[in-house]
Amino acid sequence: MIKIKNCALFGGTFDPFHNGHLHLIRTLRATERFDCFVVIPAGDPYQKSFTASAEERLSMVKLALAQEDIEISDCETRRSGPSYAIDTVEEMKALFPSERYTWILGSDAFAGLPTWRRFEELSKEIKFLVIKRPGSPEPQPIPGVEFEVLEINALDISSTSIRNHFKDGDDDGNLLPASVASYIKERGLYGAA
Ligand code: ATP
Repeated sequence: MIKIKNCALFGGTFDPFHNGHLHLIRTLRATERFDCFVVIPAGDPYQKSFTASAEERLSMVKLALAQEDIEISDCETRRSGPSYAIDTVEEMKALFPSERYTWILGSDAFAGLPTWRRFEELSKEIKFLVIKRPGSPEPQPIPGVEFEVLEINALDISSTSIRNHFKDGDDDGNLLPASVASYIKERGLYGAA
């Protein structure tokens, strides 16, 4: 009998990857609810402006997760054009059809789900696990969407705050992995000196 695996897909712009992302990944993996966990940096996150290139953001994710024994997919950074979750899910399902997929996202991102490309088809293909994020409203039901909300004491960190820290010449403190901070400084990303 084929065992159906539960697979988590965690997409994001990761501009840059930070300790809030890392806390989410580590906490969810510790629950052992997923047999596999794939982190997917967006190539062209068409709904967000971004600063670092797709290659740089992918590199930062790889540096941050070097010790984590986790899968990182370049399917969106390889694909040309805007990065749509539905394309990623269809690609994953074609490659590994016996897996059950869950898209992981923060409560801020969940609120915008109906604006995602082919949202109704996406909702039929996959369920969602919504992580409560500080300062973000309680997730509200969206018709046709199967979702669960999880409280993980998410960290109050955003990529925006980190970009601002570097721009202002502040110390990045404990907001992001040291390897990612070094990479940002070496490349002078976000105005880092
Ligand atoms: P920005 O500040 O540029 O909007 P961000 O910090 O939200 O960026 P993204 O890369 O856009 O980072 O986030 C990818 C996914 O991770 C999204 O679903 C987002 O809601 C979630 N996420 C981001 N930061 C956190 C956090 N601190 N805790 C839990 N989830 C988070």
